[in-house]
Amino acid sequence: MKKVALSACLLGCTCRYDGDDNLNENLLQLLANYEIIPFCPEDHCFGTPRPTMDLIENFNIISAVSNESNEDISEPIRTYAKIFFKNNPDIALFIGKDRSPSCAVRSGKVYDVEKKLLHKKGTGLMSELALELGIESYDAEVYEGMHTLK
Ligand code: SF4
Repeated sequence: MKKVALSACLLGCTCRYDGDDNLNENLLQLLANYEIIPFCPEDHCFGTPRPTMDLIENFNIISAVSNESNEDISEPIRTYAKIFFKNNPDIALFIGKDRSPSCAVRSGKVYDVEKKLLHKKGTGLMSELALELGIESYDAEVYEGMHTLK
């Protein structure tokens, strides 16, 4: 069975920043023929609930910055991603929660250092590595749209 890496909140895990989930039963049905390997970098690194963060672009480098402390908290997320893909080298498909600064594939809000919105097509820090590794990767909403009969 092929493996899909999936944002854990989409599976119903209550790991969102506010302790809620993003359960998406339709998406889970579409993935019925895959073995699901869940991940949640933010819960692992910072616990739940936790302060929100934003993607900030500075000199073409994207970082995750805490909205509470204003600190760059990218490093633990990137380390989690490296370990996840090292431990799971056979992921065939990656589906990340849209708009998340960690899990968005091409839907994250990206700000400049003054917190001015630059665009809404950013890649989260976990998804960044999935793309670098050449794994077929989609935002959850995009994958659903591609596979749901109208
Ligand atoms: S979007 Fe990603 S980081 Fe946020 S709760 Fe879901 S799995 Fe965790």
